[in-house]
Amino acid sequence: MKLHEYQAKELLKKYEVAVPKNAGIATTPEAVRAAVESLGGRGVIKAQVHSGGRGKAGGIKVANSLEEATQIAANMLGMLLKTHQVPEGLTVEQVLIEEPITIVQEYYLSVVPDRNSQRNVFILSAKGGMDIEAVAEEDPEAIVHLSIDPLIGINDFELREAIVSAKLDPAFANKIVVFMKSLYRCYLESDSILAEINPMAITSDGRVLAADAKFQIDDSALFRHKEFEAAAQESFEDPFEAEAHRQDIAYVRLGGDVGLMCNGAGLTMSTIDEVKRAGGNPANFLDVGGGAQAERVSKCLALILSDPNVKGVLINIFGGITWCDEVAKGVIAGTETLDVKVPIVVRLAGTRAQEGAALLASTNLIPATTMQEAAAKIVSLVG
Ligand code: GDP
Ligand code: MN
Repeated sequence: MKLHEYQAKELLKKYEVAVPKNAGIATTPEAVRAAVESLGGRGVIKAQVHSGGRGKAGGIKVANSLEEATQIAANMLGMLLKTHQVPEGLTVEQVLIEEPITIVQEYYLSVVPDRNSQRNVFILSAKGGMDIEAVAEEDPEAIVHLSIDPLIGINDFELREAIVSAKLDPAFANKIVVFMKSLYRCYLESDSILAEINPMAITSDGRVLAADAKFQIDDSALFRHKEFEAAAQESFEDPFEAEAHRQDIAYVRLGGDVGLMCNGAGLTMSTIDEVKRAGGNPANFLDVGGGAQAERVSKCLALILSDPNVKGVLINIFGGITWCDEVAKGVIAGTETLDVKVPIVVRLAGTRAQEGAALLASTNLIPATTMQEAAAKIVSLVG
């Protein structure tokens, strides 16, 4: 789950990671004006959407007067912010109002888990303020990694070494060490899988501040973080994924045109591979789960078909505790109530596959025996 910048900064404050002073979030130009007034008449207005690159897209503006604040807010609130990360755009519903700061240096700092070393790792660079992916491509030497031993924890000297290797200003080393240690504690205790400060800013008045903050919390740990409940509710940007979450369906939208329903994450991923190999593009990952009943199968089919990109559906079920005839019943019930305009290929194997096939025989559903055959069929039908 992603946190908005303002939520991430509230979290950072609890851990004494320095952030610019702010006057909260606002959803109307009047409230933005009042917030800027409370900061002394000048302020930075920042769009709160889940995307990087807001600056370049026009989602970060400095207001030098109250009139300007109202004007900027009127333009920004409600606008569709098209960033390089989200080209289709995100609607700006709320903005954060902060004290304006004068940045003299922009650094990059993040903490992420590294699955290879099975440790959390700091990523540090003097080239902050821009996309770290771009830095990695153009100047990989400018990026320093520091992995943290989970048993020993952080050693100050290692942080200093990393700060020197990354060529950050040594005059700020002490402050950056404190900053990094607080950030690390915040990252660990919030069960984050990303804590990214870009930029970590050195200001003209000598402060080290988190000018921006992107946090991602491990979804599997949300049960022990009641403080993120509100953020979790509004964190799904994709309306189909939000609906799936409400219905407790394991679904990820992938953007292609072949809708998929399979059972088990492994079979689902293999089916995605087969569709790709056959030259198609999966619209989604959907794991119907073990022992799915007809009603659940119908619901999953409805969710898949609600995506207007879907031009065909592939159902690939390996019956173990799941009964193939139960799946067939669910699919048939779904097609009877939904207005289905696309071809549906069904491959059933395992428990009660023959009973399932018998039910499908008198329908428009297209049977297939193997996964490869099923993938080839749906891809050719979708075209
Ligand atoms: P992002 O583009 O979505 O990553 O948003 P950021 O919060 O990182 O802002 C982008 C850029 O705007 C930063 O790298 C800064 O250069 C600039 N910026 C943000 N806040 C301030 C501020 O208070 N003062 C100044 N001078 N620049 C700022
Ligand atoms: Mn940023």
